[in-house]
Amino acid sequence: MIPDWRSERQRMVDRQLRKRGIHDPRVLDAMRTIPREEFVPPDCRVCSYQDEPLQIGYGQTISQPYMIALMAELLELTGCETVLDVGGGCGYHAAVLGALAARVVSIEIIPGLARQAQQNLTRTGLAGNISVICGDGSQGWPEGAPYDGISVAAAAPEIPAPLMAQLKDPGRLVIPVGAMFDQELRVIAKSGGQIQERVATFCRFVPLRGDQGWQ
Ligand code: SAH
Repeated sequence: MIPDWRSERQRMVDRQLRKRGIHDPRVLDAMRTIPREEFVPPDCRVCSYQDEPLQIGYGQTISQPYMIALMAELLELTGCETVLDVGGGCGYHAAVLGALAARVVSIEIIPGLARQAQQNLTRTGLAGNISVICGDGSQGWPEGAPYDGISVAAAAPEIPAPLMAQLKDPGRLVIPVGAMFDQELRVIAKSGGQIQERVATFCRFVPLRGDQGWQ
């Protein structure tokens, strides 16, 4: 029997997001409409709306729905921004950001995943305002800079300097920082030449690779 995906999404929004404090109506709407089941590998589609990360191949994972909603909410998007999505994976997080911002550049270091992300976004008709790039996003993507928002879905040992440089003023960067298997999700807000930083939660992401990552 084919699951009723709309009901599954609604249940996920109510039980996993609202109950934990996600309240931005635009984020809740995006999470209610984007078909996560189209982005996960076919053999784990039935698990699409479980409250956990899922394997997407190449040793990588698609983040838990709550984490994607939280990161999106922390960017405080209104719909007119350009956002850099570092660690594009299968493209789901980019699709959520694409529903919330004007334009998204999604950069993924593993060519096979970048290809999958592009295919998933095209198949679901969500590719319109999203550019998928294959490359080392720990160095950002200078060609598209500056960005109003930068979202990093892999854990960095420290905040990569190139990402700070490519962040607009005002702008917001959301990034897991810490040890390889244990990090804090930090929110960095640039405004009027000042930098403010806070910890939103504790988390566990796959390691950021590349020049500014764990190599
Ligand atoms: N947000 C993604 C999943 C994130 S998993 C989704 O919705 O599916 C983290 C991803 O970051 C992995 O796909 C990994 O290959 C990628 N990654 C790790 N280091 C990277 C780097 N330096 N540049 C770009 N992508 C990177």
